[in-house]
Amino acid sequence: MSAEAALAVERGLLAGDYDLIYVAPERLMLARFQALLDQLAAGPGLALFAIDEAHCVSQWGHDFRPEYIQLSILAERFPAVPRIALTATADPETRAEIVDKLRLHDARQFVSSFDRPNIRYRIIDKANARNQLLAFIRDGHAGEAGIVYCLSRRKVEETAEWLVEHGIQALPYHAGMDTALRRRNQDRFLREDGIVMTATIAFGMGIDKPDVRFVAHLDLPKSIEGYYQETGRAGRDGAPAEAWMAYGLSDAVQQRRMIEEGDADPAFKRLAHARLDELLALCESATCRRQRLLAHFAEASAPCGNCDVCLEPPETWDGTETAQQALSCVYRTGQRFGAGHVIDVLLGHDTERIRQWGHESLSTYGIGKALDEKEWRAVFRQLVALGLLDVDHAGYGGLRLTSVSRPVLKGEQTLTLRRQVARKRVKEVRRASAHAGSGCRRRGVVPALARMALGDCQGTRCARLRHLPRRHFGGHRRSASENPG
Ligand SMILES: [Zn+2]
Repeated sequence: MSAEAALAVERGLLAGDYDLIYVAPERLMLARFQALLDQLAAGPGLALFAIDEAHCVSQWGHDFRPEYIQLSILAERFPAVPRIALTATADPETRAEIVDKLRLHDARQFVSSFDRPNIRYRIIDKANARNQLLAFIRDGHAGEAGIVYCLSRRKVEETAEWLVEHGIQALPYHAGMDTALRRRNQDRFLREDGIVMTATIAFGMGIDKPDVRFVAHLDLPKSIEGYYQETGRAGRDGAPAEAWMAYGLSDAVQQRRMIEEGDADPAFKRLAHARLDELLALCESATCRRQRLLAHFAEASAPCGNCDVCLEPPETWDGTETAQQALSCVYRTGQRFGAGHVIDVLLGHDTERIRQWGHESLSTYGIGKALDEKEWRAVFRQLVALGLLDVDHAGYGGLRLTSVSRPVLKGEQTLTLRRQVARKRVKEVRRASAHAGSGCRRRGVVPALARMALGDCQGTRCARLRHLPRRHFGGHRRSASENPG
């Protein structure tokens, strides 16, 4: 908005022309805007402060914005004006933080279901992620709008280019792009049909396109909350949509390294690791994905019948002995090598590195020939995800044992592992149950944004605000001039 336009809005505000205005917290904090609020309070009046995306107040959260914490000033300066806080993703800890930071201690809480029954969750074993993504799009989402999330800007650009080369209408979006181009890409995504937006997590907040048919992750998000927020951009029209993610050992290792290499304090790092652990447990889950997701938001549910685990239950196997071989080999090679080398030793390969370190003479050399390399990678991925192996970031990124691995290594505890599902079978299932979602009693109902409202206004208003899709929120005329409860 230009300075001139902003001035015109300010004049209109003071004249009482507006029922509802949107302000970024950064602007709200400006002395100039605070003075304007004082004038408004003394003049036409302030009916209500609605703080949207309130989870941004959480310092531990994935969308933390420092300005949100300063919003507590509203409670001090305008104690008589009701406040409500809204968010679509807040686990019990984040809810407590919202209450605390925004000083809503006496406020009522309204928590509606977090379930998005029309979204099918699918998390696959990463092999060649780009080809897997292309097959996923061609197989079930040709010509449909979708979002592909990548971790780095470079990967965003490369993936978009690669998809275009393979006949998919893809555009890049990340914070490092020229502003005008970024805006143009976003507009095209919103207005045109069938655009695939390849983006970092900079893309999405505040985007409300109802017919996004899939959200794909080529890299692991940082937490279940992040994953849920991002996948929640699919299927807002209530029609079937898919949340797809390719995940592999390197993702777990990379995320751990990013946490360790960050300059956050130890308490923050511990929490970040714990959040990642939860997400990894979701990825490795042998039970319904949705059940786990909802459990994270403290919501009990039955197996959903609309996720990969429900549709194609993974086989599990007693991996105790195999894990012992892996852990023992990590120990004997000195807890300083990555999975690649340890697997080479287990398989009895003849590599320069093995000869250099004399690892062909170890007792674990060649003891793992019952599994092939791909199967071993799946085992190591699960051992890292389950916390039996840790990555030594201070050293050279080698794998090392943890306190959790000891009982397994000593034979005091058995270990159940997931067997990878062959891709062919997944495809058969997809064909057989392509319309499985249509039997759902909730399909077709426009899903109210599963929102939490915290506030000191009366029930009817909160109920209405809670069930208002965002794009209707701004058009809800006279909402700000109604008699606040
Ligand atoms: Zn399920």
